[in-house]
Amino acid sequence: MLYTSPALETLIERLSRLPTIGRKTAQRLALYLLKQPREDVAALATSIGTLQERVRTCSICANITELDPCPICRDSRRDRNVICVVEEPNDVLVIERTNEFKGLYHVLGGSLSPLEGVGPEDLKVRELLMRLRADDETSVKEIILAMDPNVEGEATTLYLAKLLSPLVDRVTRIARGIPIGSDLEYADDATLARALEGRTIV
Ligand SMILES: [Zn+2]
Repeated sequence: MLYTSPALETLIERLSRLPTIGRKTAQRLALYLLKQPREDVAALATSIGTLQERVRTCSICANITELDPCPICRDSRRDRNVICVVEEPNDVLVIERTNEFKGLYHVLGGSLSPLEGVGPEDLKVRELLMRLRADDETSVKEIILAMDPNVEGEATTLYLAKLLSPLVDRVTRIARGIPIGSDLEYADDATLARALEGRTIV
C-alpha cells in the first residue's frame, strides 16, 4: 500500500530495512509514531541522530563505549590477568549480567566464516595479539574463549586456541552447557555462569 505522504512512505521504507522489521511492522511503527506527542518523536530522532557521534569502540577491547578506554578497561578493580574473548559487544553485556566474570574483555566483531568470506583479518585478532604483547598487558595469564556455540564459533575457538596458546599460560573455553547452534545471548544467566565456571583448557 502506498501512502499519500512521501515523508511517511520514506520512514516506512527506512524502518523496514532494520533487522527483524518487515514492511508490516514498519507501517505499524510509523503510524504509531505519527500519533505520539511531537516532543517524544523528536527525542527519539535526536537519540538516533547522535548515536554514531557519541558511541565509539574502545581502542583496547573494541567494546562499544562513549569513553575511550571503556569503563571496564579503565576499572582498576578488574582482574587484568584474564581476558574473555567474545564475538559481539552484546556478549559483554550478557556475561556482565551473570556477575561471574571480573576480568577484561576483547570483542572480535564476529566469528570466522569461510563461507561468508570472514577471515582473521576481518576480526580484531591482530589487536588482541598486540594487546598481549603490549607492556602493560603482559600480566595476562588466561584467555577465556566465549564464542557462540555454532560452527563458526567452534572454528574461531580452535583457531584462536592454536594462535594464543604459546602466548599465555592458559587458553580456556567456556563449558558446553549452552544449546548448540544458538547465540550466547539466548543462554540464561545461570547457564552462562555455570559455563564460565566450568571452563576447560583448550
Ligand atoms: Zn575497553
